[in-house]
Amino acid sequence: MSAETAPEAAPETAPEAGAAATSPTGDPWLLTPGPLTTSPGVKQAMLHDYGSRDRRFIEVNRRLRERLVRIASGDAGGDGSHVCVPLQGSGTFVVEAMLGTFLPRDGKLLILVNGAYGQRIARICQYYGRAIAIQETPEDVPADPEALDRALQADGDISHVAVVHCETTSGILNPIEAVAEVTARHGRSLLIDAMSAFGALPLDVRALNADAVVASSNKCLEGSPGMGFCIARKDAIEATQGNAPSLCLDLHDQWVAMEKNGQWRFTPPTHCILALDQALAEFEAEGGVAGRGARYRENCRILVEGMRALGFQTLLPDALQAPIIVTFHVPGDPNFDFKTFYDSLRVQGYVIYPGKLTVAESFRIGCIGRLGPAQMRGALAAVAQALASMKVKNCAPIAA
Ligand SMILES: *Cc1c(COP(=O)(O)O)cnc(C)c1O
Repeated sequence: MSAETAPEAAPETAPEAGAAATSPTGDPWLLTPGPLTTSPGVKQAMLHDYGSRDRRFIEVNRRLRERLVRIASGDAGGDGSHVCVPLQGSGTFVVEAMLGTFLPRDGKLLILVNGAYGQRIARICQYYGRAIAIQETPEDVPADPEALDRALQADGDISHVAVVHCETTSGILNPIEAVAEVTARHGRSLLIDAMSAFGALPLDVRALNADAVVASSNKCLEGSPGMGFCIARKDAIEATQGNAPSLCLDLHDQWVAMEKNGQWRFTPPTHCILALDQALAEFEAEGGVAGRGARYRENCRILVEGMRALGFQTLLPDALQAPIIVTFHVPGDPNFDFKTFYDSLRVQGYVIYPGKLTVAESFRIGCIGRLGPAQMRGALAAVAQALASMKVKNCAPIAA
């Protein structure tokens, strides 16, 4: 099958189909923050070897960049004001590339932190020796636009603000629109890590007036792992020449080179690009951000309702929960053992994720990837089975 064909997901690839405990490839379903379960079509798309200068590859790459700009522009189509710069590596590579490229050496970044990914942004800046300020809220509290307003008022040295759209540590949704409004009002630049939300939650870089937004191929877009991308305002990236302290992670250099001949500077992840091209065709067939978001919201609803019915408690109230990944408190019942629980689910065909919280013992179950109601219900049945085999009676957390 050529990458240009089959934009429509075949019926048997629909995540609703069947309630088999394992996926069509016999792999477990991945209810994690990534890598995620991909569709048969996406896996199929990788069965090609394209040369990096192949006309077909250059066309796929061009189309992919255009589509990503469109998705970042509220699905409304690009108007030439923004560009897409893809980059090899996992999501963190492109986060680091964004920081290194967009932060001038004499700049200062205010980071809104409420989890591990915000902390990681701070850590990258420390490697690069860039000045930072941190405004931290607890892991179950969204970033605070009013506190941001006061901080920008008080510190004129702050040139940029960084925010994580969905902080995957807890699954909390940060108020990026309000953060963008405050940042713009103070005339500062905004950088967004939208890694775990891009493609599932609405985002319009033009309305947010962000300098740059980064995400990756393998989360809500449901491609394979291997590349990230930056959606940048053209005038903002034009002004970044000479900022980056790393050649590989210089998005300005990557952009200029790609504009010149449509090619990547260094060996492109061709299979990953073909997979993402197919994933974007399936994304469009599903109805873009609205369709993908609706499926994930339904996944999340089934999961949360089912887990609550079993007695589990979510870390977050529903109003703060993004339909991406849900954090549950570990039951206080002395018979509960996370490793046994995890292994039992794995044997039954479902992979979940340990918690990353510092405040409470927890675990996470993802709603994203090529999963539908059948997989969420299957996971709930597996959870019930695991609890029964551990003889766990009470799933309420230890009283705080
Ligand atoms: C997944 C993720 C990243 C990138 O993680 P990688 O493991 O490097 O792909 C960055 N930020 C957020 C919010 C994420 O969810």
